Amino acid sequence: RDRVSILSLPVDRITYRQWMNQIDRWVQETDGRAHQVCTVNPEFLVMAQRDFNFSTILRRADLCLPDGVGLLWAAKRLEQPLPERVTGSDGTVMIAEEAAKRGWKLFLLGAAPGVADQAAAVMREHLPGIQVVGTYSGSPAQEEEAAIVEMVNASGADILLVAYGAPQQDKWIARNLPRLKVKMAMGVGGSLDFIAG
Ligand code: UDP
Repeated sequence: RDRVSILSLPVDRITYRQWMNQIDRWVQETDGRAHQVCTVNPEFLVMAQRDFNFSTILRRADLCLPDGVGLLWAAKRLEQPLPERVTGSDGTVMIAEEAAKRGWKLFLLGAAPGVADQAAAVMREHLPGIQVVGTYSGSPAQEEEAAIVEMVNASGADILLVAYGAPQQDKWIARNLPRLKVKMAMGVGGSLDFIAG
């Protein structure tokens, strides 16, 4: 893998275009496992310094995207420049656009009640043909986990976008990755609020 190490954490040298193509390969895999994508920004690096569980999740993730211009500066100083900044919020919008074109099925989990539904309605209005196969506000509480995993799996979703805030969303995904039947799961922070408007 082509990655840079910043404060002992991996950051991938990847463009939006390469990422979208990687998602498509994951979705097309028959019997493929679920892959975790993290959007690394400077706050993530600070949190990971004092949270060993979170730093382990970042080191084990399938992709750590350079979300945050500070990471591009750091990589440049290390003489291993990154091709471009790849953010979770722009990535979420691009995933929705590509999903409409390539037939990826999306499940939107988290955010305040009504937000994921509203984000799905906006996607359907602007991206004809998009398949948002499920939404659920829910909570990152452990008691709800098994039921939510079952709901996501029953929906037949390829991609799970989780808005529980960092690092809870990334921990939720890491804990449940072995049981999830989606091909990619990613924490999206406030991106569903952003799309819902
Ligand atoms: N969120 C949630 N449950 C929680 C904590 C957060 O649904 O227990 C949602 C919140 O409603 C919002 C998003 O997580 O949609 C905010 O994430 P974050 O603060 O990480 O946003 P960022 O600033 O990273 O985009």
